[in-house]
Amino acid sequence: MGSLDPPKAESNYSNAAGKSDAIHKSTGDDGDPPVHKEMTMEYDSLKKRKTSMLPLEVGTNVMCRWRDNKYHPVKVIERRKLPYTAPNDYEYYVHYTEFNRRLDEWVKLEQLDLDSVQAVVDEKVEDKVTSLKMTRHQKRKIDETHIEGGHEELDAASLREHEEFTKVKNIATIELGRYEIETWYFSPFPPEYNDCLKLYFCEFCLNFMKRKEQLQRHMRKCDLKHPPGDEIYRSGTLSMFEVDGKKNKVYGQNLCYLAKLFLDHKTLYYDVDLFLFYVLCECDDRGCHMVGYFSKEKHSEESYNLACILTLPPYQRKGYGKFLIAFSYELSKKEGKVGTPERPLSDLGLLSYRGYWTRVLLDILKKHKANISIKELSDMTAIKADDILTTLQGLELIQYRKGQHVICADPKVLDRHLKAAGRGGLEVDVSKLIWTPYKEQG
Ligand SMILES: [Zn+2]
Repeated sequence: MGSLDPPKAESNYSNAAGKSDAIHKSTGDDGDPPVHKEMTMEYDSLKKRKTSMLPLEVGTNVMCRWRDNKYHPVKVIERRKLPYTAPNDYEYYVHYTEFNRRLDEWVKLEQLDLDSVQAVVDEKVEDKVTSLKMTRHQKRKIDETHIEGGHEELDAASLREHEEFTKVKNIATIELGRYEIETWYFSPFPPEYNDCLKLYFCEFCLNFMKRKEQLQRHMRKCDLKHPPGDEIYRSGTLSMFEVDGKKNKVYGQNLCYLAKLFLDHKTLYYDVDLFLFYVLCECDDRGCHMVGYFSKEKHSEESYNLACILTLPPYQRKGYGKFLIAFSYELSKKEGKVGTPERPLSDLGLLSYRGYWTRVLLDILKKHKANISIKELSDMTAIKADDILTTLQGLELIQYRKGQHVICADPKVLDRHLKAAGRGGLEVDVSKLIWTPYKEQG
């Protein structure tokens, strides 16, 4: 799972997400009647009926006017009463069912089209199905309990998953180094941070504080100027640090809290011992500033070479996401293993991976005039054969002949796909990577 460089089409959303407040004001108070409103003789009784459905229940499906001034289907996730107002004056936290959850937001009643209200569906059934589809954690649980035997545990897990999935964003912004960053998702900070809308992070040790003065005091005595761990790569101003979650438990946990603010599905918070964190930094005379990271299990039976991946929003769209992916495969090559990212991948993560796989595989296919097998491609790239197959199938470069998958690639078709995939940007210079694969000490 991961959050990487957003594609162009999406960028309008995520950029605009930061301005939701201003948009609230401009769309909430202009008094435009909802477009579906029927001006009939029964208007009064209609009005009465609408009033009787207020406040809307959590779980209600309704149309909501978004910042594009169009109506989109939403589901009410949470509601809260506005202070000093009439009894039915509530704000609603909604999820736009067509959009990514990072766009979930508080909206005013005026934005909702009450004519479109649908009855609350049976949440339990629906959400169980969704959560079964959504997470690897769940799949693992099902495998372990063989479904028939383990209903109880499954229900508890579904419930937890559901709670997680419907969480309202808690921290709105963070300060990290030179940046103030708007967050995207809920993150389970300890209860004493429940009343905070903003958190102040030390950009080096990732300790977080409630108040600016606390951070300033901390910065005077914090002696870290880079992530705790070994610098395993340096090229120009870019450095990669390998942090062992067991040796740097607090750092690992802080990183997970921070990352969750920008990752929708992420289940790892406390068991950081089993992971290595690869933290990418831009370095200058003030220190090494984290731009993103990926985590990796020390031992993965499923040949995962990456667990979570994130480029922090201020550094997105600069090629760092692709750099991190490429880096994870360079580590796999050094280990002499093939690797694959842990699922589910986020929407942005999947896009970045598809782009990476397409570029790497098609470059090789071009050089070898497609005269190469999937196994050979996998050996050369450390990309798992399944991922190669799905990528090439998606590009319609695979045919099934006499019980075998055969790569069929017209050079013109390759060029067209390569052009569409764009360039990788930042390359990993393997000669600058000084690293030996992880081995348990002792
Ligand atoms: Zn610090």
